[in-house]
Amino acid sequence: MSAASPPPRTLRVSALYPDLLSIYADRGNLLVLERRCAWRGIGWQLTPCGLGEPLDSEAHDLFYLGGGQDRDQALCAEDLLATKRDALHAAAARGAVVLGICGGYQLLGHSYELGPGKELPGVELLDVRTVRGDGSPPTPRLIGNVAISVALDDGPERVLAGFENHGGRTHLGSDQAPLGRVLKGYGNDGRSGFEGARSGNTIGTYLHGPLLPKNAWFADWLIATALGIHPGELAPLDDALEEQAHGGALRAAGV
Ligand code: GLN
Repeated sequence: MSAASPPPRTLRVSALYPDLLSIYADRGNLLVLERRCAWRGIGWQLTPCGLGEPLDSEAHDLFYLGGGQDRDQALCAEDLLATKRDALHAAAARGAVVLGICGGYQLLGHSYELGPGKELPGVELLDVRTVRGDGSPPTPRLIGNVAISVALDDGPERVLAGFENHGGRTHLGSDQAPLGRVLKGYGNDGRSGFEGARSGNTIGTYLHGPLLPKNAWFADWLIATALGIHPGELAPLDDALEEQAHGGALRAAGV
């Protein structure tokens, strides 16, 4: 590892509901961000924001929501609207990164319909709607290793590897860009070939795994974007182990 360039300040991260939205080792995503900042001498500030707590839209560069069970999402959905929605919109509007994984992704959309007459409202940062599968065979839940092809900004087409386990099927609005295209696995709904959604620096994806240990390049894109720099400005790291993990995850997905 080398830390050639001077630290471009501190990455300030707010983790929303870390006790409720953090399944399938999603907290590993935060560990990866922290470690990759530390290796480069970039400061790290992690602020949890739980139920009932106000969110300061200016105080963070990256807002993170992990995955969760439906019952925990219900608590978060209500609280998001009551105490955090406006701040998230303000943060996204100034270009902060908002990253939602699985349950967190669903809550960034318009709604998550759990069944007849039962709908969780979302914060409407992404033009997506999620409907829980009716439990009928063959795939009541969409589970398995997944790989998607992604092109971010001026970067080349790259692959994200992960693991998905969701009952919800997410449908994109007509102008909503996906995050990527499914190479293996189900993605948003198991049919459309789309995975995730992206509007500006707001990103939602179904990829757990956790996502960032398996895709160090994406962790760096997030760090750089949140700091307002180009990923190429980050000091390079020795990612031999990370690349092995990425390759292993791709093989597991059958790519
Ligand atoms: N509870 C949601 C679903 O089943 C999200 C699951 C998750 O975060 N893994 O669709």
